[in-house]
Amino acid sequence: MAVWFQQHARDLPWRQTRDPYHVWVSEIMLQQTQVVTVIPYFERFIATFPTIAALAAAHEDQVLRLWEGLGYYRRARQLHKAARVIVDEHDGIFPRDPDAVKTLPGIGRYTAGAILSIAFDAREPILEANTIRVFSRLIAYRDDTTSSVGQRVLWRAAEDFLPRKNPGDFNQAMMELGSEVCTPRDPQCHNCPVAMLCPTRAEGLQDVIPAAKKKVAYEDVVEACVVVRKNGKVLLRRCVEGERWAGLWDFPRLASGAQTGAALHRELGAGVRELTGYDVAIGEHLKTIKHGVTRFRITLKCFEAAHLSGNRKRGEFAWVRPDQLDAYALSVTGRQVADFLQ
Ligand code: SF4
Repeated sequence: MAVWFQQHARDLPWRQTRDPYHVWVSEIMLQQTQVVTVIPYFERFIATFPTIAALAAAHEDQVLRLWEGLGYYRRARQLHKAARVIVDEHDGIFPRDPDAVKTLPGIGRYTAGAILSIAFDAREPILEANTIRVFSRLIAYRDDTTSSVGQRVLWRAAEDFLPRKNPGDFNQAMMELGSEVCTPRDPQCHNCPVAMLCPTRAEGLQDVIPAAKKKVAYEDVVEACVVVRKNGKVLLRRCVEGERWAGLWDFPRLASGAQTGAALHRELGAGVRELTGYDVAIGEHLKTIKHGVTRFRITLKCFEAAHLSGNRKRGEFAWVRPDQLDAYALSVTGRQVADFLQ
């Protein structure tokens, strides 16, 4: 596998070094996100924060601004927190001890295994979307790969296959194999370096292994956001812990916007007052944005409003000129509204 990997590995920016910081940032960015999307984010992130110490010293807003558009913002906040822990508790040097690595915010068994094996050649197995598929096929595992039994079986397979020599290269090779050759549909078994060992190929079961995932049940919801204006500025609110975009800024956003006409205006006015403490006069409909987050398909109705009076509630708010919105890390829809205002 190591030879195959040397010959077939894609030239990716995080593969140019074994620096654990680079491996770590890339692994966190690659969770739930495609390689091609991650590349420019990774390059900008490392250029801005070249070391763990530089990341730890940054303000969270700056980290989130660089992450904007990648989604799953909790990843960025935990990466930032973990950098501070490494500076405080490990002199700014990424730890080699697996137990220490696994206690860092945002680092679970998979990420710890990837960093330790790739950066330090530690004999740590990994299991992620691509290798789940490869190992399932290599042991012809037909059952649910997401169940606790399935996870146990597959982690065991990842341990059993892991060689003593160059485990980091092996882990990367298995991920590359899953990504480029042992694909979910039409795997290229004729180009596979382990084809001779594969019972799934021998029995022609590539279409049924791994077992199909349960279909996500999507839910349609209608929400509203309000662009409150005062003296040429618009109101932003920082989303709090427990909200969808915790840590990011957003225009006041309300969970319900299903009403129409005067009832909707009343609902929005009351919602803005509840959220911000300000009385506002709801004005024109600006635009409607459709977007998806996890299992929700959201229709977001955006309205203008004029600030009237009131005292702002506890929380972080900012009155911002539209041409200064670029300086704020906004939710994905917040950025669409900001672009529209500009
Ligand atoms: S032979 Fe085919 S199914 Fe088996 S591991 Fe290789 S690509 Fe995957």
